[in-house]
Parts: sequence; C-alpha cells; structure tokens
Amino acid sequence: MVYLIVTGLIVLLVVAFLLFKMGSAFGGLPVLNYHKISTDKPDFLTVSTHQLRRQFAYLNKKGYTTIFLSELLAHVEQKKPLPARPVMITVDDGYRDNYNNLYPLLKEYDIKANIFLVAGFIRSPDNKQVAPNPMGEFMFAEEAIEMSKDQVQFGWHTYMHESYSSLSLPEIEADLIKTKTRLQELGIPVQPCHAYTFGAYNQQKEEKKLAMFQLLQQHGIRLAFRVSNWVDKIPVENRFFVSRIHVSGLFPFWKFKVCVWGYIKIFNRFEKMLK
Ligand SMILES: [Zn+2]
Repeated sequence: MVYLIVTGLIVLLVVAFLLFKMGSAFGGLPVLNYHKISTDKPDFLTVSTHQLRRQFAYLNKKGYTTIFLSELLAHVEQKKPLPARPVMITVDDGYRDNYNNLYPLLKEYDIKANIFLVAGFIRSPDNKQVAPNPMGEFMFAEEAIEMSKDQVQFGWHTYMHESYSSLSLPEIEADLIKTKTRLQELGIPVQPCHAYTFGAYNQQKEEKKLAMFQLLQQHGIRLAFRVSNWVDKIPVENRFFVSRIHVSGLFPFWKFKVCVWGYIKIFNRFEKMLK
C-alpha cells in the first residue's frame, strides 16, 4: 500500500514537472510552424483555410496575441516586454498560397505571421529557373513586399532549400551569403532571422553546430528556429536554436489546442505508446 502511494506521488510529481517545463501557460512562447495553406483538402504539410479560421478565432477568443519576429528580437535583446499570452505564427518556404489563402485571413482576424523564404524560389521577372518547382508554386517578390506592409514579416530559409545538416561549413557560409544577397536584390524587407530547412539541425558534432551558430551570427542572423515540438521559456535559452511546433493539417482541432498549450510532444509520445 505504502509502495503504491509513493509510486503514485512520484508519477504525479514527474507529470507536474513535465507540464510546468513544457507548457506555454508557464512563461513559454509557443511558436507554431505551418507550410502550405489550401482552400480544399489538408494534409501533413497543408492546413486548410477552414481549419485556419477555426484556429485564428480560437487564438483571438482566448486572448492570445500573435507577435512578429522583431518583437521577439526586441524582447531577447532589449528586454522589451511581450504582450500577455504571446504566440508566434511562422510559415516556411514562401508558397504562393500564403499570399492567396493565408494573407486575407491574417487581415480578417488581425493575426501577425512570419514567413521564412527560400530566396532562390521567389518568383520575379529575372528568375526563370523556379517554374515548375517540384515543391510547389512559390510567391512573387511583389506579393511578399505587399504582405510586408501590414500582417507579415519575413526571414531566411536558405537559398535552394538545402539541409544545413548535410552541407559543410564553407557551403553553409556560401548559402547564407547567396540568401542575403538575393533577398536584398528582390527588395523584400527581412528580419535577421533564419529557419533551418527540414525542421531541425541534426548534427552529431557539437563543434560543427557551434561553428554554424557562429557563421549565422557573422552574417547578421540574430535568431534561428528549428522544429522540436517543444515550447521554449522566454527569453530563449539559445537564440540560434529556438523551438517550434509543427501544426499538421491532419490534426483534429483539439490537437491544435494541445500545440498552443505546448504539450503536443507528450501527446504524440502517448499516442505512439498506445499503438
Ligand atoms: Zn522548408
């Protein structure tokens, strides 16, 4: 009997600790990560406008405030306070549906979003190599510039969507220079922020990881994002490794709420165990 009570208490303590450590309610910043936005069927990387409406309405109703990259930077660097219940919306790659399907909803619900662009994929009169692109249809530079006037800030997401896990340090440096130069050429205002392609930087060698952080810093990057389905406490512990949570179009609505609360990793683990 005593054994059972002690075990129960330990389990409770562990659960309480995990909830505290991971939850956005305890001083964490949920950074949500999207990719494509469609008007019809959702899939793993695609959220439908129908789902987004529900999600945005939920965030507004519950008093969450969406923030820009520049606001997180000002908080990290100058300790400028963030609004109550902050949440960050990030969208990777720069698909054209972000302009056609997401942008009108951002205005309607007064939501701020941050789009990480693959610089070499952005369409412009001088860029013919991008169509057709097997990854999908990408936005035009002028569409990005239009969005930057109100609801959207932009960041870097490499030049050709290559993985920094497989590139050498000199190749990473060349990619950073190309990305920066191209975005400047296109006249798209960007924040000094980068999102790693393929979500994470899975580098076994700690030294190479630190050298990569140094390169990012040398080339002007002040925040870099991965995908770990985790919520970081703010101010962030490592500004070159900020956690984001993947919001899948295959999630039922309750799972979106779990993402915002910061507990999706625990839920995914439980789900796997039960299967
Ligand atoms: Zn990507």
